Amino acid sequence: ETVVNRIAAGEVIQRPFNAVKELLENSIDAGSTLVQIIARDGGNKLLQIIDNGCGIRFDDMPIVCERFTTSKLAAFTDLRSLNTHGFRGEALASISHVAHVSIVSKTAEAECAYRGEYFEGKLKAPVKYVPGNQGTTITAEDLFFNVPIRRRTLKSATEEFKKIVEVVSLYSLHYPRVGMSVRKAGSDGLTALKTPADSTVAANIRLMVGAEAADALIHVNHEDKRLEFSLDAFVTGPSFAGRKTQLVLFINHRLVESARLRRAMESAFTEALPRGAQPFAYVSLQIAPHNVDVNVHPTKHEVFFLHQDAIADAIQSRIVAALAAGRQ
Ligand code: ADP
Ligand code: MG
Repeated sequence: ETVVNRIAAGEVIQRPFNAVKELLENSIDAGSTLVQIIARDGGNKLLQIIDNGCGIRFDDMPIVCERFTTSKLAAFTDLRSLNTHGFRGEALASISHVAHVSIVSKTAEAECAYRGEYFEGKLKAPVKYVPGNQGTTITAEDLFFNVPIRRRTLKSATEEFKKIVEVVSLYSLHYPRVGMSVRKAGSDGLTALKTPADSTVAANIRLMVGAEAADALIHVNHEDKRLEFSLDAFVTGPSFAGRKTQLVLFINHRLVESARLRRAMESAFTEALPRGAQPFAYVSLQIAPHNVDVNVHPTKHEVFFLHQDAIADAIQSRIVAALAAGRQ
């Protein structure tokens, strides 16, 4: 059974940045306004995420790393009106099957923080009281120490760290109000990314892509009642020439891929921008949850939804119109 769990976990968490994405989503779901991420050896040796969110209740500490433990799903019908990221309760469980996990947490009501250490979904010893502030700190050490095949497929620490920074910076575009930082462990730990709390999409694009991109941004807003979607996008206009086209796509607040939408965006760029232009685009799409396949496997970032072609066409023409107008 443990081996089966470990294999399943290795499917959910394939590289350190997969763990970072899950942990970051949890911190955001917890209402954090500041999230700090610390990595050693590209996250392989150590991954730590410190947030100031609502905390985990003392009574929940023994079970948080068990499979299907989630505080985000009261009833099956909730699946249809879901607005938090989690609902499977698989992330912490998976991480605890491929790493040594410790959690320090404190809710607003608790008088003191507490710490649990976990392996393979279970507490290793009773939860202990420790000093600490409100929020949650999750530490995962020696990722994949028990999954040799995963360790072999990992890229260098530099590559893994780069990927972590990238994922966090993309989430900072979607949640600009949450201050996020990523640094390497150690007293001389380099800070690779730091966004202030209460930032804006444009300000974070400036940090991530540069001032020229931020200055060229065109904001596109659109709601379609019939197709039940709304669009909120920032796209660089004709004055910006990047080195490569970059499309950042969030659907219902999850960083995802959609080949169909990518094609629609690329067609819009070809149609409305000068030849060879390499734009930057951040696109947030909200689709009625009952039209999205929420049950895709956690590592399958490709998302499918109903009325794909009609929605893609509608988005394409909105983007073309906005780029042609030069402002929106
Ligand atoms: P899910 O997010 O799908 O519910 P996870 O395995 O990611 O499942 O997390 C399990 C549960 O642990 C969450 O539902 C939440 O109650 C709690 N939790 C995890 N991380 C945090 C955090 N940073 N702050 C508060 N609660 C958390
Ligand atoms: Mg989660």
